[in-house]
Amino acid sequence: MELPDGEEAECRICRGGHEGGALLHPCRCAGSIKYVHQECLDQWLARSSGASKRCELCHHPFTFSPVYADNAPSRLPTTEFAMGLLKLVAKRTLLAMRTTLVLFLWVVCLPVGTSWMCRLFFMRSLQSVFTLTDRLEGSAVLGDWMQGVLLSVVVVGCFLAVSALRDYMIRHEIENPPPALAPRNPPPIPAPEVHEDERGVPLVNPPEPRNWEVVHRGDGVHFVDHQAAAAAADGFGGEGEVE
Ligand SMILES: [Zn+2]
Ligand SMILES: [Zn+2]
Repeated sequence: MELPDGEEAECRICRGGHEGGALLHPCRCAGSIKYVHQECLDQWLARSSGASKRCELCHHPFTFSPVYADNAPSRLPTTEFAMGLLKLVAKRTLLAMRTTLVLFLWVVCLPVGTSWMCRLFFMRSLQSVFTLTDRLEGSAVLGDWMQGVLLSVVVVGCFLAVSALRDYMIRHEIENPPPALAPRNPPPIPAPEVHEDERGVPLVNPPEPRNWEVVHRGDGVHFVDHQAAAAAADGFGGEGEVE
């Protein structure tokens, strides 16, 4: 497939060549937009739903006809036909088996298993486990199955409700974030110390905390510096008591 100007033919959607499948020209467009892969065109048409199956450029309805290789036989050989049929039957059988297995698991195993698990959970002694063989009779199995269906529906319903509630709460949290600026329990502001004089009148300028005092002893009056004494006790030197 060679274009008139010697350019290699390419798909007008994915710009790929023959390696992406056979290039078809399903409408009247020519030039660089002449060719398209069938897969690309199918995807394009599936996405542009509502639009008619016509080319949006030349408005020609897309037409596809099966194209056979040049060396294809005129009639399908019996072996090919048989192989194709066998493949189809195998595929359908596999699908049917898979569907049956899934249905069996959901409709039979899950309810009966749930019912038996519930029965084992509420068992009073280990000996009564052996009485469970009574439950293998037809009517008992049917009863267990119905009980199991009910239990399974309740369990699955609870699970769905919890997950829905969780989703709702997460969405609520995202839409209404909690106020993060003010702390919920601010630390209490300490009340200011009120200093009063001897008559009970509050002082405007409270006295500085004293770290010295004058001590009257028998041998005279001593000036005691508590700060220096503390420093001396810590080993920093200094005189604790000054004459
Ligand atoms: Zn393509
Ligand atoms: Zn066209």
